[in-house]
Amino acid sequence: MSRYIVSETQELPRHGEVKQDTYGCYYCHICGKSFKKVLAHVWQKHNISAISYKKLFGLYTSKGLLCPESRELAQQRNAENKESVIYNNLIKQGIKTRFKKGCKGRTKNQVSAQLKSALRKRNPLLKGDNKP
Ligand SMILES: [Zn+2]
Repeated sequence: MSRYIVSETQELPRHGEVKQDTYGCYYCHICGKSFKKVLAHVWQKHNISAISYKKLFGLYTSKGLLCPESRELAQQRNAENKESVIYNNLIKQGIKTRFKKGCKGRTKNQVSAQLKSALRKRNPLLKGDNKP
């Protein structure tokens, strides 16, 4: 497996859909190539931030898009640096995004297409307003 491009697809992933190759690497919605770290590729090649890319293509904004190999490595590193990860990233930096009393939370129109699709699959009785 090469360091960057793993494989190419003829059909780009649709809005709100993620596609993985046989290694579990995700395909880029823009160029159709799969990468171990697709969000790093999107930033370096297409100059789009991870959060903008996820919003643009209707993906979960809080989920990572790493191949299993890279995810495992990241989890190992997080475990090795558990104290600083939990203290700095979750407790100290998390203050900005913590729920505040009176906040509406995520409204229906702020939910990603990927989440709407997953919820519809789980409960077909839910009415969707963005059917393909
Ligand atoms: Zn690309």
